[in-house]
Amino acid sequence: MRLQRLKEAIRSQGRAVGDGILKVDGFLNHQIDVDLLCDMGRELHERFAGERVTKLLTVEASGIAVACAAAMHFHVPVLFAKKSAAANMDEAFYESQVESFTRNKTYTIRVSKQYLTQSDRVLIIDDFLANGQAVLGLLSLCDQARAHVVGAGIAIEKGFQPGGALLRARGLRVESLAIIDSIRDGVVALR
Ligand code: 5GP
Repeated sequence: MRLQRLKEAIRSQGRAVGDGILKVDGFLNHQIDVDLLCDMGRELHERFAGERVTKLLTVEASGIAVACAAAMHFHVPVLFAKKSAAANMDEAFYESQVESFTRNKTYTIRVSKQYLTQSDRVLIIDDFLANGQAVLGLLSLCDQARAHVVGAGIAIEKGFQPGGALLRARGLRVESLAIIDSIRDGVVALR
C-alpha cells in the first residue's frame, strides 16, 4: 500500500530521458513530495529495523531528503558525503572517487573523519541505483573508517543496469522500494 504511492508517482510523473534515465523532478529530485518521502522513510526503517543502525550515510544532494525521511524513524544522524571541497570542511576526511552515471564525469566525495567511525553501523541511502558507483564510493568511505555497513536502502533501482547485481554479489543487502525493469521508447516498466 505504502509503496503503491511511489509506484503511482513514478507512473504518473516519471519521464524517460532516452532509454536509460528516469526523471522524477516532480516528487524527488527537484520538487519534493514530503508525504511520499515519509512513507518511503517508514518502509526503509521497517526493513532495516533490527540492524541497530547508528548512522544513515548518503551523498548530496538528492539522497539527503530520502535519508532524512528515514532518519525520522531511525532517530540517528544523517551524514551526507560532500561533492565539493569547501574551505570550511574539516581537514581530516575520507574520500573516494565516483563515476557519475547521469553527468558523465568523475567526482570526489568526502566525509569528515569526525562523523564516521569504527563504532558506526551504517545504512547507506540513495535516491537511485544504476551502475552502483555512488554506493561503492560510500562503501569505500565506510571501509576507510572501518565502520560496519548493514546494507543499502534505495528509493528507485533500475534493474536493467548492473549496480544491484554487483552490490548483492559482494554480499551487500540492498533493499529497493521500487524497481524499474526497463525504460524503452519513453515507456517505464515497473516490476
Ligand atoms: P550509480 O552510481 O548507481 O550509477 O547511479 C546512482 C546515482 O546517479 C544516484 O545518486 C542518482 O543521483 C543518479 N542517477 C542514476 N540514474 C538515475 C536516473 O535514472 N534518474 C535520476 N534522476 N538520477 C539517476
